Amino acid sequence: MAVPARWSQPRTEAEISAAVKDAAADGLPVRALGSGHSFTSAAATVGVALDLSGWSGISAADTQTGLVTVRAGTTLRTLNAELSGLGLAMANLGDIDAQTLAGALSTGTHGTGARLGGLATQVEALDLVLADGSLVTCSATSRPELFAAARIGLGALGVITSVTLRCVPSFTLAADERPVPVDEVLEQFDSLAAANDHFEFYWFPYGRQALVKRNNRLSPGDRDPEAPGSPASPKASGSLASRPGSAVAAMPGWRRFWEFEVMENAAFGTLCRLGRARPSLIPALNRFSSAALSSRSYADISHRVFVTPRRVRFVESEYAVPRESLLHVLGELRRQVPRLADPVMFPVEVRVAAADDIWLSTAYGRDTAYVAIHQYAGLPYRSYFDLFESIVAGVAGRPHWGKMHTLGTERLRALYPRYDDFRRVRAEVDPEARFGNAYLTQALGDPRLPADFPE
Ligand SMILES: Cc1cc2nc3c(=O)[nH]c(=O)nc-3n(C[C@H](O)[C@H](O)[C@H](O)COP(=O)(O)OP(=O)(O)OC[C@H]3O[C@@H](n4cnc5c(N)ncnc54)[C@H](O)[C@@H]3O)c2cc1C
Repeated sequence: MAVPARWSQPRTEAEISAAVKDAAADGLPVRALGSGHSFTSAAATVGVALDLSGWSGISAADTQTGLVTVRAGTTLRTLNAELSGLGLAMANLGDIDAQTLAGALSTGTHGTGARLGGLATQVEALDLVLADGSLVTCSATSRPELFAAARIGLGALGVITSVTLRCVPSFTLAADERPVPVDEVLEQFDSLAAANDHFEFYWFPYGRQALVKRNNRLSPGDRDPEAPGSPASPKASGSLASRPGSAVAAMPGWRRFWEFEVMENAAFGTLCRLGRARPSLIPALNRFSSAALSSRSYADISHRVFVTPRRVRFVESEYAVPRESLLHVLGELRRQVPRLADPVMFPVEVRVAAADDIWLSTAYGRDTAYVAIHQYAGLPYRSYFDLFESIVAGVAGRPHWGKMHTLGTERLRALYPRYDDFRRVRAEVDPEARFGNAYLTQALGDPRLPADFPE
């Protein structure tokens, strides 16, 4: 494991710039740290580790245009709370809020929604400290190539100091979650993705049920999630084919605690520990978890629906595949996972995103389905993850930059049409690999090596 030579805690842009210049003067590489929530060693460094936790909060906001400038070390939790106070929100989010904004952007963090992109598509401009210590701004009109690269830049191009986001007015999501036979979900996958603002499902590899989650925006005035109302419906209603009706009440606090903390974390964690102690029980425990899935519907402020607590530890790999390849990938997982010697305790998660134009985005140029596989911490996962990689390799799957994968430069170049453009921009702004580390060398090569320099 890489151990930093030293730590630095800059609290201003000038201090970030000085830390980069000092590292250069000492011949050390430098790396910005996020919250450490990547499953890869993306942030690891043997040089200077920049802890930006003291560089947090919204620095400017225009509630008319929705443009909000945010310091890079702000966690998504703080961002959501501050945006809410301004009557604004992120249009789409992933499923936790512990990451820093810059860390989440740098690895291509995404949520779900067939008409929406990941977090980086919500960025209007970026401020970065480059390898020479200079502070630059990039956007669609100012240094557009740097902007196309740095929105999902893996920390390779500079230290992001501030991000200008295009936010939307606060909105309420009606959540509908229900177990559905996985065959039915797969049959209706395209229409479910098209009919709902945010559609995803979980499927336990030995079970027949999937948990389908559909989150849809309510129009302003449909409800006030803080207002007293009828309790959230314990049973979702309506058919899977239609868009679910509007749930009108927030989940009461006691029920939120019961569903998210007790059932999804404490009870599931107990089953996982049991499985780790007696692996032969895992398929049965997995089927039990699948059969125990229950329905719920409720409405709440968007970020309280997008984000749920995740306290059970796991390892994860996620690949983005062309949307039309999803059925093939899941079919192969269903066929081959039961044959693995080491059983799988955690569910598979499927989400969707619209095509975008960010050079290293996993959704670059194609409507995408994300397939995430997980294993409980401490259980063997290698053969499962290898199997998964061999399946998605056949459909040009692109790995999430913050989740476990084994791909190197040759394969990644074939997967990303603008890969060499990214490397060219990197070689221009960081010819000495000041921001380099072992993970970047695996993924992007090293601009100091002539053989690695893009043709
Ligand atoms: C429980 C859990 C749930 C998750 N859910 C999702 C999900 O729903 N969707 C999804 O897509 N991903 C998800 N992830 C993955 C996660 O969003 C990414 O790995 C993200 O990068 C983590 O952010 P971080 O702040 O912890 O960054 P870190 O892991 O600390 O760093 C990530 C990268 O960002 C770089 N970086 C950090 N700050 C800067 C900066 N200021 N300038 C330049 N580079 C910088 C680092 O050097 C590193 O390369 C999840 C991870 C976990 C553990």
